[in-house]
Amino acid sequence: MAIHSSSNQDDSNKRAMPSYFNLPPLDVSNAFPQATPASVFPPCASDYFQFDDLLTPEEQAVRKKVRECMEKEIAPVMTEYWEKAKFPFQCIPKLAALRLAGGTIKVFFVLLSSFYSQGYGCPGLSILGSAVGTAEVARVDASCSTFILVHSSLAMLTIALCGSEAQKQKYLPSLAQFQTIGCWGLTEPDYGSDASALKTTATKVEGGWILDGQKRWIGNSTFADILVIFARNTSTNQINGYLIFILTFIV
Ligand SMILES: Cc1cc2nc3c(=O)[nH]c(=O)nc-3n(C[C@H](O)[C@H](O)[C@H](O)COP(=O)(O)OP(=O)(O)OC[C@H]3O[C@@H](n4cnc5c(N)ncnc54)[C@H](O)[C@@H]3O)c2cc1C
Repeated sequence: MAIHSSSNQDDSNKRAMPSYFNLPPLDVSNAFPQATPASVFPPCASDYFQFDDLLTPEEQAVRKKVRECMEKEIAPVMTEYWEKAKFPFQCIPKLAALRLAGGTIKVFFVLLSSFYSQGYGCPGLSILGSAVGTAEVARVDASCSTFILVHSSLAMLTIALCGSEAQKQKYLPSLAQFQTIGCWGLTEPDYGSDASALKTTATKVEGGWILDGQKRWIGNSTFADILVIFARNTSTNQINGYLIFILTFIV
């Protein structure tokens, strides 16, 4: 029996990786013929907890619309993208049409009395309606719901809660339509929950800021247009959020 030292093992792992990644995508129906195809979902025929009674007609309509789209339009293509380890950009227009992004974001008005209203191109859903819609996405594909949650609940909601009125008007409408994609960068290699200890710095320079540091686990970051990045302001020593808008030039 050959005994490999750990460095030999590392070398052979490195040599093996490229050949593995060059293989064609696995055809799941050949590899696991006994598996239920990922595109087939059992119907939701029961309501043991009488959950329906808790939903308004509008919330029930959101759930029905999202469920139908996820089962019929999204499920059939997701397995292929899982196997290729690629993002299904072709699904974005279908997800946009569900009107879930920025679900609960509303505008605060003060006229004769103060009230909240639909605004910034967001659908103005109730908290329950937004949650039910996202749960229907996750029922079919958890990664798809992570994509929407990072975009909507992290990036968009941070802009809605902490951004200036000008930033909300500038960024939220296109994010609500998925014409731009958002990401939210807080976590670092050494800090996650302990957000007050972040090491990434933001230094004011003429004409802008220099952000310097490392981030990890940032969903959507490889293709996002609008990045919300948390960093330590070197002038005040406080952690602030910074908005970065990536301009893409197609040559
Ligand atoms: C699928 C996925 C997507 C993600 N997407 C993003 C993203 O888009 N943007 C982003 O910024 N981050 C993202 N993250 C990172 C995630 O938010 C971090 O994992 C989180 O911030 C925790 O940080 P950590 O991993 O460093 O864990 P740690 O902070 O090291 O925590 C480790 C454990 O200790 C516990 N713990 C920590 N502090 C305390 C305390 N004071 N008291 C009691 N218990 C404590 C935690 O609950 C946890 O169980 C993502 C993570 C995953 C898994």
